[in-house]
Amino acid sequence: MDTRAKTDECLILRGRDYKETDRLLIVFSRRYGKFSCLARGVRRSNSRLKASTQLFSYSRLTFTDSKGLALVTQGEAIEPRAELRGDLTKIACASYIGELLDGVLPEGKPQENIFVLAGAALTLLCSDAEPFLLLSCFELRLLAALGYRLSFDSCAACGRSLQGGEFYLSPERGGVICAGCRERLPGAPAGGLPPTLSAGACRLLSGLLQWELRRVFNLKVSPAMRQEADAALAYYLEYYLGRPAAKARENLSVYYRP
Ligand SMILES: [Zn+2]
Repeated sequence: MDTRAKTDECLILRGRDYKETDRLLIVFSRRYGKFSCLARGVRRSNSRLKASTQLFSYSRLTFTDSKGLALVTQGEAIEPRAELRGDLTKIACASYIGELLDGVLPEGKPQENIFVLAGAALTLLCSDAEPFLLLSCFELRLLAALGYRLSFDSCAACGRSLQGGEFYLSPERGGVICAGCRERLPGAPAGGLPPTLSAGACRLLSGLLQWELRRVFNLKVSPAMRQEADAALAYYLEYYLGRPAAKARENLSVYYRP
């Protein structure tokens, strides 16, 4: 990416200390996509870039190119999101969003719909939105934005509507299939049978993918159904997005379980 004197809205996805007072950041910018950059001297207490380069903040940053690395030269925090850095569950969830995006987004490719989705997820995480519902919504909608929109409204093979009974995850068909189709279709995937989903969990996932967020956050979901939906999401994410997504989820599970 040519980063000579460019200004854009950015989400600070990840960061690590570098040298004595610098930070290396992974930012996701609205117009230039995801990239690495260096924020010099921001660990000094009087750095004027401190607020705008904090983890998870939504900032307007200016970059110049320094020998192939983007250097942050100016910054303004639009939403500092301090709430996300002071609570262990919120830190874990926001870190997961950052790590997942860093793992699956290609370098320097603008993806404005995903930028908007990630910004909304981090803003909602600052509120009292329920983390399980929020992260599940984020995962399903991220998959859809990346071209893997799943359907939980009918069997992906025969089209039968999902009423009672159990259904099998079928990421290769983009959703779930019924027991009858499961028997008819050849070959179980490597690693054994995928997890099953009850009709109720299918309805939940369908809602999380499609409903307005206000409606989503009014849902009451039993612990058993959470676990069912969560196991299904882990399976889909690993199937479509591979090791980086699985690793991000493993790291999340150390600090947060639905
Ligand atoms: Zn079927």
